[in-house]
Amino acid sequence: MPCEPEMTLHIQTPLIHSRPLSLAAGTEVWLKLEALQPSGSFKLRGIGAACEAHARQGKRRFISSSGGNAGIAVAYAGRCLSIPVTVVVPQTTTERAKALIRQEGAEVIVHGAAWHEANALAQSMLGAADAFIHPFDDPLLWQGHASLVDEVAASGFRPDAVLLSVGGGGLFSGVVEGLQRNGWNTVPVITAETTGAASFARALEAGRRIELERIDSVATSLGARQVCERAFALGRSHPVQAQVVSDRAALEACERFLDEQRILVEPACGAALALAYAGNEALRVHGRVMVVVCGGVTATLEQISAWKAAQP
Ligand SMILES: *Cc1c(COP(=O)(O)O)cnc(C)c1O
Repeated sequence: MPCEPEMTLHIQTPLIHSRPLSLAAGTEVWLKLEALQPSGSFKLRGIGAACEAHARQGKRRFISSSGGNAGIAVAYAGRCLSIPVTVVVPQTTTERAKALIRQEGAEVIVHGAAWHEANALAQSMLGAADAFIHPFDDPLLWQGHASLVDEVAASGFRPDAVLLSVGGGGLFSGVVEGLQRNGWNTVPVITAETTGAASFARALEAGRRIELERIDSVATSLGARQVCERAFALGRSHPVQAQVVSDRAALEACERFLDEQRILVEPACGAALALAYAGNEALRVHGRVMVVVCGGVTATLEQISAWKAAQP
């Protein structure tokens, strides 16, 4: 039984015009407010859909290895569906993230110095009645994320371009799937990453799905060293403009967005907003740009200020 009155675990989010962002960007900017999802990020669209599919197939437990918004979304989905959730996270996971996962009633197991160790334990725990929920590399997730575009199309609004952040590429893959299934194959996607987490932009430049040696960015939710194959393939077949911003620009965008729109988002989301605030050329050539305000709940305002103070 979903927690929301709607038929899905995620909600239909508002699409609003932003006057301050339009003035800064030099074009009309519309905001798809995924930060308002009950779990605090767009992740609930795909993860909610995947968890519901696994529940229908009789799965009795959900397992995740994400100490970020994906783990929080799985925990939320499990609580709504009355299915127990275990999230295995590395020692580097913040107290805040662990508390948010536990707050949803999920079990948190801390294991290993880095994510791959936590993930290995999570994989080893998988029994026949368990479902592993990947944070970005799963067709069920992309289908769920695509609902974001269906909602926009149903409202009668057609963007001239879509701006979104890329981590492992799940959001990007889902949004492109949504554009294509609504007949919007020619609507370009402008992608945003921070310099130290630019696995998508670097892969497109290189013409192969390169793996970054390490992640060096405050945008922790963009910290996938390699994008999924699907995202790379769509990056080559769909019209895409891959852009990169500094950590500082992403942090400043978070602060300004909070002041102007009264919504707190993570630097992962600030990366996309930073392009609009900078009046980036890739946006200005389009009449109506829809920004996917992907959200994120793992960074407090205090944390954002501390990160900014520590910038070189
Ligand atoms: C997961 C996440 C991203 C990146 O999404 P991918 O599907 O990994 O590309 C961006 N912003 C926020 C807030 C996220 O939680």
